[in-house]
Amino acid sequence: MRLSRFFVPILKENPKEAEIVSHRLMLRAGMIRQQSQGIYSWLPLGKKVLDKVNNIIREEQNRAGAIELLMPTLQSAELWQESGRYDAYGKEMLRIKDRQDRPMLYGPTNEEMITDIFRSSVKSYKDLPLNLYHIQLKFRDEVRPRFGTMRSREFLMKDAYSFDLTREGAEHSYNKMFTAYLRTFDRLGLRAIPMRADTGPIGGNLSHEFIILADTGESEVFCHRDFVNFDIPAGNTDFDSVDRLKSIFSKWTSLYAATSEMHDEAAFNAIPEGERLSARGIEVGHIFYFGTKYSEPMGAKVQGPDGKEHFVHMGSYGIGPTRLVPAIIEASHDENGIIWPESVAPFDVVVINMKAGDEACDGTCELIYAALTKAGKDVLYDDTDDRAGTKFATADLIGVPYQIIAGPRAVANGEVEVKNRKTGARETMTIEAAINRFVA
Ligand code: ATP
Ligand code: MG
Repeated sequence: MRLSRFFVPILKENPKEAEIVSHRLMLRAGMIRQQSQGIYSWLPLGKKVLDKVNNIIREEQNRAGAIELLMPTLQSAELWQESGRYDAYGKEMLRIKDRQDRPMLYGPTNEEMITDIFRSSVKSYKDLPLNLYHIQLKFRDEVRPRFGTMRSREFLMKDAYSFDLTREGAEHSYNKMFTAYLRTFDRLGLRAIPMRADTGPIGGNLSHEFIILADTGESEVFCHRDFVNFDIPAGNTDFDSVDRLKSIFSKWTSLYAATSEMHDEAAFNAIPEGERLSARGIEVGHIFYFGTKYSEPMGAKVQGPDGKEHFVHMGSYGIGPTRLVPAIIEASHDENGIIWPESVAPFDVVVINMKAGDEACDGTCELIYAALTKAGKDVLYDDTDDRAGTKFATADLIGVPYQIIAGPRAVANGEVEVKNRKTGARETMTIEAAINRFVA
């Protein structure tokens, strides 16, 4: 992509409305634009990152056996009256009427709709287990939308829903998602800690929130500091092995970790003093086993091996991609801008032409741009006639992991400079070596 033909509305000044660094950087880097309170457009640079995040989420959901579909944003109120949540949900739900005066709503979540899809076609235990997910916009009329897309009113969620015949089956489905989440956050360059979470008034339920430690986080967390030492399950983990997944789950949940609602002072104080960690964090995912909470009122049942009908045991599993993007920035930035992990970077490399219009510089940049693009790299080419200082600032701000810098002096020697955004290390090398550095 040539920067001169791209659309990245960079802000020179720090936007006054942004209280936290990720919000500031997303606005400055031209990734998002607020359209009305808590409602954002994702501009091209932001959209590229969001797509990469979604794809990693999708790959790990698929690996764990979940199946993708797409449900609508607008839902009929009837379904929610069946579950009893239409009245219970309160002001967070955006309620709408269509031209026939029928009550509709912009979905804040999809338990009711997926239960309706399930009950309309699944009749036998032989079709279980089943896990269906989508990545779709949600709307919650939050009391205090803030921090950009970290807490917005319209936001994207990956929400998966599992269906099993028994509680044991549902626990295995839960462990699959638990393992998938560990892998997902790891691939996004994050260490998310699974915290025991509140399961509401119904006992016997199971719930974990995945939290990234960050001073600007809205959740209070209490945990053992050793979470960072655990291994992430490998990609070839057998998701059908009940024992294997149980052992991953038990290992990760053996250490104390809880958010404020579930915080147990006695258990926390039992951790040796130097090993306690009390901090703040950002909730990026939430998994929940809730048994027959929706299947009973909505009549979602299957015939079991005993010939009798059984209400299915369900779980739901959310991840917020539009919150994850700022969370990644909170975890990875410096005073000059964003430092993207390679897995979600909007571009693999940026080629900086320090003197656009200079024949040698133009020729060298075009050559590198063409070679890397041909090799399948996603390359941003800064071919604008901005000053070199502006170009460096832009490249650092938008956080592309590598910069190939072509200035007249180096180019005269057949050389360019390669800069690593994260370490700041610069290396001068021949043009060919620079190309091979990324193609090899
Ligand atoms: P929170 O406690 O932050 O309000 P929640 O518990 O209401 O979140 P869930 O219903 O568990 O959220 O939703 C699953 C995921 O969706 C969350 O872990 C988060 O990543 C994302 N999410 C929820 N609300 C928002 C929001 N207002 N803006 C952006 N992402 C959100
Ligand atoms: Mg939650």
